[in-house]
Amino acid sequence: MQIPPSHPRYFSLLMRKKLVEGFEEGVVVLEGLIAHGRGETFDYILGEVTRDFAMEAERAGVALMLLAKRPVISVNGNAAALAAEELAELSKALNAPLEVNLFHWSRKRADTVKKWLERFDCEVLAAGDAELEGIEHARRIVDSRGIYIADVVLVALEDGDRCEALRRAGKKVVAIDLNPLSRTARMADVSIVDNIVRAIPNMIEMAKNMKKLEKEELERILSNYDNGIMLKRAIESIRDYLTGMASFHQNPETSTP
Ligand code: ATP
Ligand code: MG
Repeated sequence: MQIPPSHPRYFSLLMRKKLVEGFEEGVVVLEGLIAHGRGETFDYILGEVTRDFAMEAERAGVALMLLAKRPVISVNGNAAALAAEELAELSKALNAPLEVNLFHWSRKRADTVKKWLERFDCEVLAAGDAELEGIEHARRIVDSRGIYIADVVLVALEDGDRCEALRRAGKKVVAIDLNPLSRTARMADVSIVDNIVRAIPNMIEMAKNMKKLEKEELERILSNYDNGIMLKRAIESIRDYLTGMASFHQNPETSTP
């Protein structure tokens, strides 16, 4: 079905369509559709826009990736379905390979996601020949040339357990997660509370510009960044947005939604 661009929820419906297509191609699993539902809810109460705190986190995340010796971008099924082309572009801008990492792992599915991403001419790791310690589920399966030896990992729609395991293994984690209350957001070094479909394009632009900065300048951006404050601002932003909506319903003439 064609979604008319005039539809008031066009972008939201487009994302759902991409996920359903991803499901049909074997990239997305049913559980991924449910995870997207949780993300949609948080996006709704954030106002479906990139807030200032998210922009700051995106900038800090790019700085951390540019300063890394071995940065890797971890990609799961939903991320691949929603933003394959953009992830490939970010991979090039940051000089960081993509690595397929799945909660519902099978050799076949990992290869399917790899091929899906490779359509956009990028380096994709998916050997699954190494394991992270301290995780029981399949997210422990990594590539010995990628996440296993990475010093900074960018993750989206991540599982809290693995985020913790990555930290324990001495890696820095940049997480894109719409839920500021999730374990992932609380565990990461840089938590980007934004939709992946907005965050990745923002980060591509930032990476292109910030590449030219001196190392000291990138370090300065990071030293001014406080993730705890960022999560606090994200939660307060949801509170303020909801308060604004509540006042609107109470008095539509004098307030704006
Ligand atoms: P945690 O284990 O970290 O507490 P969780 O159990 O809440 O996380 P999961 O099911 O493991 O969540 O992963 C889904 C997460 O991804 C949710 O926090 C959801 O808000 C987030 N999410 C879903 N869709 C998107 C999206 N398009 N962009 C960014 N984040 C998203
Ligand atoms: Mg979880």
